[in-house]
Amino acid sequence: MHLQQYCIGLWLALKMATMMTAVTPSVETPAETESVVLLIRRTGSRATPARVRVLQLLRVAPAALTRHEIEQALADQALDRVTLYRVLEWLVESGLAHRSADAQGVFRFSAAAAGEHAAHTHFRCEDCGRVFCLDAAPPAAPNLPEGFSLSRIELDLRGRCAECTGACR
Ligand SMILES: [Zn+2]
Ligand SMILES: [Zn+2]
Repeated sequence: MHLQQYCIGLWLALKMATMMTAVTPSVETPAETESVVLLIRRTGSRATPARVRVLQLLRVAPAALTRHEIEQALADQALDRVTLYRVLEWLVESGLAHRSADAQGVFRFSAAAAGEHAAHTHFRCEDCGRVFCLDAAPPAAPNLPEGFSLSRIELDLRGRCAECTGACR
């Protein structure tokens, strides 16, 4: 077992223990909730309780979490599988979260800092349409003709993700 996986397991166990003994159902402070709500509203969308809870969890997690780990951590809250799936898709699409595949091809989610997606390359799956954040910086710009000014580089790698190629169960 990887040290990182071990740490996440330990963190989840601690978090769940805290949640079960806490007087209030949430361990997050009101100020933290408020900033998560603002982050979501800034995208022009509604800050639904499910979006707020999941993003809050991703922001306090010490490492990227799998969907299963997120499900476990939020098990005490009425959040069904389909809702969680939709919330995660929405968070990635709106740039608030990253989705990446670890060395085993397991998808992991983490909170994104503002503008962070511009600092790495993305992989778009042609089968399921999901976008993944790669641990790779975008390529450097080529020399531009005189008088050209570059505002940004967009590079999407395309292909099939681990789930679609059947590489992970
Ligand atoms: Zn990204
Ligand atoms: Zn796919």
